[in-house]
Amino acid sequence: MNREGILIVISGFSGAGKGTLMKRLVEEYDGYALSISATTRKPRPGEKDGREYFFLSREQFEQKIADSALIEYAQYCDNYYGTPREYVEKELSEGHDVILEIEIQGALKIREQYPDALLLFVSTPSAKELRRRLSGRGTETQEVIDQRLRRAAQEAEGMEEYDYIVINDDLETCVRELHEIIHAAHFTPGRNKAFIEKMRKELEEN
Ligand code: ADP
Ligand code: 5GP
Repeated sequence: MNREGILIVISGFSGAGKGTLMKRLVEEYDGYALSISATTRKPRPGEKDGREYFFLSREQFEQKIADSALIEYAQYCDNYYGTPREYVEKELSEGHDVILEIEIQGALKIREQYPDALLLFVSTPSAKELRRRLSGRGTETQEVIDQRLRRAAQEAEGMEEYDYIVINDDLETCVRELHEIIHAAHFTPGRNKAFIEKMRKELEEN
């Protein structure tokens, strides 16, 4: 039986480990397509255009909005971030599980447009550990770190909107848990409508 692709949203506090988890998830398991977002923020050292993000000017980003080339976008700490439409639609139509690593405003917009999307929220075990990881990453100034921690407190208000909360304590355990949740999501009745229809029809004719 053909599996239907699931649109998966992964959100979580900045520094919780989303980027690290996604990298491990696609290394470890087949069948995931990772969407690359567009952003107006500047690349961090080591980040490459077209790999972590498509790095755009404000004008270029606003043109994408005008062209309806993004399925969602949001402002986060003074920058635009958005999901290019073409890749997501293509991969879903080919039956792949597509992962969007996006913040909460975008996540809620995705849920409106794709009611079957699976929304996962990644957290550290504690706020102290979040501060430690954000500082330890060494890619932001203290001012930006403080801004992101304030933003985390706001984002915590939305945690109940998600389908699952996943705690990134031990990295490998968390990667496995994410995969298991996504795997199990393929078996819900709502994502197997075609199979249910088929069985009903066959049983009627049996
Ligand atoms: P995000 O993408 O959520 O902002 P990152 O993936 O950049 O977070 O991770 C933030 C920092 O925390 C990085 O330095 C990363 O190496 C570290 N990190 C990620 N997961 C873990 C973990 N399970 N245990 C310890 N450190 C981690
Ligand atoms: P960072 O600057 O740390 O890479 O990302 C900042 C925040 O923007 C993170 O919470 C990340 O999940 C979110 N983000 C990344 N890409 C997108 C996107 O395409 N849309 C939305 N709404 N948020 C995004």
